[in-house]
Amino acid sequence: MNQQIYLDNAATTRMADAVRVEMEPYLGENFGNASTSYGVGQVSKEAMEKSRDIIAGTLQANKEEIFFTSGGSESDNWAIKGIAGALKNVGHHIITSSIEHHAVLNSCEYLERLGYEVTYLKPDAYGIVSPEAVQAAIRPDTTLISIMFANNEVGTIEPIAQIGRVAREHHILFHTDAVQAYAQVPLSMATLPVDLLSASSHKFHGPKGVGFLYVRDGVNMPSFIHGGGQEKGKRAGTENIAGIVGMGKAAELAHENMRRRIRWEIQLRNYLIERVLHEIPDSRLNGHRSMRLPGNANFSFKGVEGGALLILLEEDGICASGGSACNTGESRISYVIEELGVPMEYAPGTIRFSMCGDTTKAEVDVAIASLKKNVAKLKL
Ligand SMILES: *Cc1c(COP(=O)(O)O)cnc(C)c1O
Repeated sequence: MNQQIYLDNAATTRMADAVRVEMEPYLGENFGNASTSYGVGQVSKEAMEKSRDIIAGTLQANKEEIFFTSGGSESDNWAIKGIAGALKNVGHHIITSSIEHHAVLNSCEYLERLGYEVTYLKPDAYGIVSPEAVQAAIRPDTTLISIMFANNEVGTIEPIAQIGRVAREHHILFHTDAVQAYAQVPLSMATLPVDLLSASSHKFHGPKGVGFLYVRDGVNMPSFIHGGGQEKGKRAGTENIAGIVGMGKAAELAHENMRRRIRWEIQLRNYLIERVLHEIPDSRLNGHRSMRLPGNANFSFKGVEGGALLILLEEDGICASGGSACNTGESRISYVIEELGVPMEYAPGTIRFSMCGDTTKAEVDVAIASLKKNVAKLKL
């Protein structure tokens, strides 16, 4: 079989070798519990706090604002259920979008079953949630707005600064699921009007099962996991030191060469988009042409079944995705593609390619050749 070409970095990324090296001592001799006072425990504590420092630094945040979690899903659950619960005497209305990740959508649906009301804003055809629509949805009993920084399927980057300003004007807390954006594009909490931000390590070449929630100083977040005093008593449980150390290293690496990497990814992405749209008849790009994640290209091919196309791509050694990893196995059209109003002849033939800094032009060329061949084959 051909060598594998991995173009599904939005689903997960390969852990960087330097990250594994950084983690190794914490899977061996440095096994201490960070809550103990003797040497080996303090080694863990220091390593964990170093990671917190690194991550806070990448966001221009204070380290007190960074809470470690088990990943993006937990961070989203905590932000939404935590704030909804803490402010239940103020109001029961939440504003989000209809193209959020399921970690947000299903947390909101859970709250609806508890009696909360949720407005799911529909994006425009490019996947953009308009700040005006957010503004119009605000009610006196709105306590939280949650809009993702960038969409995991179509790659659209939302106008988060403008939406945050609307939230601020109305004194409503604002959460953003930045799992696809953190460590991919520069983010600064010094300028972003965002109160809560979710991120996940395995989306930026760190280990799986670890992430963080940024909670702006002054926001009174209730505990999510009840138990011991870890994470200032808000998220109990002996910490995943190796994971936290790995995430810190991955965050550091991602920010060291960010500008150069973004330039490369955009160059590759635009090359892929131009060639596909010019060389494959009846193809379309989903999401916004420029307001999109550097490494994301999401296409639909008219009269083609996406699941069948993925299988043929895989035979050529290419790993891509039909949209979100959570939906594979279902031949259903993605809810994001539906919400964008992609025409029915195109919607079932949707494929996402997500590149990373290590993706080469040669790999993209192989992917384009395979796409051309296989789209033509499926249209016969
Ligand atoms: C991957 C992803 C998540 C979930 O993160 P996990 O760490 O896998 O739980 C949440 N939101 C978005 C936008 C994602 O891409």
